[in-house]
Amino acid sequence: MSGYVQTVVIVGGGSAGWMTAAYLSKALDKNVQITLVESSNVTTIGVGEATFSTIKLFFDFLGLQEDEWMPKCNATYKMAIKFVNWNAQRQHFYHPFQRYEVVDGFDISEWWLKMKRNQEAFDYACFLIPWLCDNQRSPRYLDGKVFDDKVQNLFSREHIVKKNILDHLKVQYPYAYHFDANLLARFMKDYAMHRGVKQIVDDVVDVKLTADGSIDSIETKEHGSISSDFFVDCTGFRGLLINKALGEPFIAFSESLLCDSAIAMQLPTDIKKNGINPYTTATALSSGWVWNIPLYGRSGTGYVYSSAFISKEEAEKEFQEHLGEAANECKASHIKMRIGRNRNSWVKNCVAIGLSSGFVEPLESTGIFFIQHGIEELVSHFPKKSCNEELIRSYNKAIADCIDGVREFLTLHYCASDRADTEFWKATKHEIQVPEELREKLRLWKNRLPNNKSINPKYHGFESYSYSVMLLGLNYLPESSLPVLEHIQDQNAKATFLEIQEKAAYLRRTLPSQYEYLTHVIKSQ
Ligand code: FAD
Repeated sequence: MSGYVQTVVIVGGGSAGWMTAAYLSKALDKNVQITLVESSNVTTIGVGEATFSTIKLFFDFLGLQEDEWMPKCNATYKMAIKFVNWNAQRQHFYHPFQRYEVVDGFDISEWWLKMKRNQEAFDYACFLIPWLCDNQRSPRYLDGKVFDDKVQNLFSREHIVKKNILDHLKVQYPYAYHFDANLLARFMKDYAMHRGVKQIVDDVVDVKLTADGSIDSIETKEHGSISSDFFVDCTGFRGLLINKALGEPFIAFSESLLCDSAIAMQLPTDIKKNGINPYTTATALSSGWVWNIPLYGRSGTGYVYSSAFISKEEAEKEFQEHLGEAANECKASHIKMRIGRNRNSWVKNCVAIGLSSGFVEPLESTGIFFIQHGIEELVSHFPKKSCNEELIRSYNKAIADCIDGVREFLTLHYCASDRADTEFWKATKHEIQVPEELREKLRLWKNRLPNNKSINPKYHGFESYSYSVMLLGLNYLPESSLPVLEHIQDQNAKATFLEIQEKAAYLRRTLPSQYEYLTHVIKSQ
C-alpha cells in the first residue's frame, strides 16, 4: 500500500466536517483511517438548514432512508423557495424544484408569454408545486408514494445508488429538505464513528509544513502533533489550513454580491396549529432579505444584509419589526460572512470543504450543496500520497466553476429585479459589477427566455428553468413572445395548461398536509 493515502485528518466538526467524514467512511471503505479533530472552544456556525434537491443523492449514497434520519434532525420537506417582495410590485413568486413541461418543442413558459402573460401568474400556470406549497401539502402520500410519477421509483425504499455524481443527473428531484444543522452534524457524526472514524476533541494551535510546502502535521493543545497523508480543512470561515497555513488567497465576491452579514434567530412554532410550509421563504427587506426555514417544531430565520447600507443595530431593529411578536424573547446572533472562494480549494495535500472553501449568501441554499459537490469531487479525484498536479488542477477547476456559476446566478437575482426603492436596491442596479458575459445573456433573455444552451454551461447545479423562473418573477420579461409560436397551433399548449391545473387540483385534494405526513412517520416508528 505504499504510495497510497492511508490516513486522512479532517479538521473541523461542523456540517462540512461530519458530512465529509460520513461520506468518506462509506466511499473509502478499506485501508484508510479517517480522524476528525474538532474544537470544543470554537463553535460551529449552526445555521445552514435549507438544502438543494440534489441532497437526496447524498443520503442515498450513505444508504439512509428518510424515516431513519428525518425525525432525528427535525427535518421537513422543501419543494420550492418563495420569493416575497423581490420585484417592484411586491408580488411573490415560487422557484420550485420542477422543470417546465415542453410543448411542441418549446418550454411551457414560452407559451405562457404568448397566451397568458396578462392573465395568470406564470408559476401557478406552469407548475404544480406552487399550489402544493400554498396548501402546505406533503410531497408524499401516507403510504410513502411521491406525487411526481416521473421520479417515483427513485424514491422507493428499494432504490439503491451505486454511483452518484451530481452533474450526471437526469431528473429533477421534486424536493429537498430543511433540517436542524446541529442535529444533522450529530447524526453524521454517529454514522461516521460507527464506520470507524476517530474523533479527537482538541484545538489545533499550529500547522507544520514539510520542505515542499505540504502539511506534515497539525499541532493540538492536548493531543500533541498529529500527522497524516492527507488533510481536509473544514474549519469554516477561518480557513485554518488552506488560508492561514498554506497561504492560499481568497477571492472576495463583494463587487457583485453586496450582502456580507447576517442575523440569525430560532423561533418556536406551533406546527399543530399553523401547519408546516413545504418551502423556504426569502423576503426582501431594505438592505437584503430574510430567510424563513420551517422545521418540525421550530423555524430558523435570519436577515442577510449589506453592512455598507445598514448598521448592525438598524438591521436588528428592522428584522425584529419584520418578525413582530414572534421574535419576542428570542436571541439574535450576528454573523459576519466571508463571501467568495479560495483561488484554489485544493493545495498540496490539503482540500478545503465547506465555508473554508467558498460561500455565497444562502439565497438559493447552496452552502450544503457546495459541501456535497466538494466531497463527491474529492472522491472522484482521490489522490495517491504524492497528489498528482493534474488531478489537483482538475478538482480546482470543477470547484471554481461551480461556485462562480452560482455567483452569476445570484447576481442575476439582484440585477434583474426591478425593485429600486432603497439605497441598497438601487446599488444592485447601478453599483454592482455584472460580468460582460452575463450582460450579453441578459440582452438575449429580453428577447427569449433562457434555455440550457444560453445559461452558464459549466456545472453549477442550476438548470435553465431556474434562470427563467427568476427572470419572470423579477419582472425581467421578454418584450414579446417567440415569433415562431405564431406559426404553431395553440391546442397542445392549451391542453397542457389545463392538465397542470387539473393535476394540481387533484394533488391538493388527495395529498396529506406536510404536518400530517411527518407526524404519521414519527408515530409509526
Ligand atoms: P463551521 O460550522 O464554522 O465549523 C467549523 C468547525 O471548525 C467547528 O467544528 C470548529 O470547532 C472547528 N474549528 C475551527 N477552528 C478550529 C481549531 N483551531 N481547532 C479545531 N477545530 C477548529 N447552507 C445551506 O446549504 N443552506 C442554508 O440555508 C444556509 N444558510 C446559511 C446562513 C448563514 C448566515 C451562513 C453563514 C451560512 C449558511 N449556510 C447555508 C452555509 C452552511 O451553514 C455551511 O455551509 C455549513 O454549516 C458548513 O459549515 P462548516 O462546517 O464549513 O463551518
